[in-house]
Amino acid sequence: MEKDIDSILKKLREMHGKARIELVYSNPLELTISTILSAQCTDERVNKLTKTLFKKYKTIDDYLNIPVEELEEDIKPTGFYRNKAKAIKNVVREIKERFKGQVPDDIDTFSTIKGIGRKSANLIVGVAFGKPAIIVDTHVIRLSNRIGLTKNKDPEKIEQDLRRDVDEKYYTELSLLLTLHGRYICKAKKPGCENCLLQNDCDYYRGGKDGL
Ligand code: SF4
Repeated sequence: MEKDIDSILKKLREMHGKARIELVYSNPLELTISTILSAQCTDERVNKLTKTLFKKYKTIDDYLNIPVEELEEDIKPTGFYRNKAKAIKNVVREIKERFKGQVPDDIDTFSTIKGIGRKSANLIVGVAFGKPAIIVDTHVIRLSNRIGLTKNKDPEKIEQDLRRDVDEKYYTELSLLLTLHGRYICKAKKPGCENCLLQNDCDYYRGGKDGL
């Protein structure tokens, strides 16, 4: 069944309000750091930490000039702190050396930085710079399959499918609303179909697709 994206968006807006992320940040560099810290960690925990972290680290040089052990200690509560500290050091170094200290505002360019995957590049560019971005996280993978917006499980293929079928001006909004929907209603183990306005749009609800 062909999907009515306008109607799906309207219902998602009705359920979740304005599309948004839950990470707190005030500039593209902060969003980049928060995104790295949010791997395998809740946004709530990241926000609690960055409230103080961003007072200490304000510039790229603040991250570069500090011993990695100190950065590890500062980000420890978010887990996987050794890998994350290494990633942060590398990402800020590349931003400084390759991009004159400016966080890139282009998805393809950003994703060439070691430590930044396609999902993170889409998130940062889409949210911090307001550019059209399809952010395929675990919720978007599950939801786009359940609703029937794609038959693919591979994030890059899902991104391509949504890029093909959705109006560019709705890319970022749709991604963010799907993530909110996955977090609060269409949960992985038990989708809250009884509270969902998408029943008539959803393949999973209407006739048992695999449901991921
Ligand atoms: S109807 Fe159920 S499975 Fe479909 S999107 Fe809504 S909560 Fe998820």
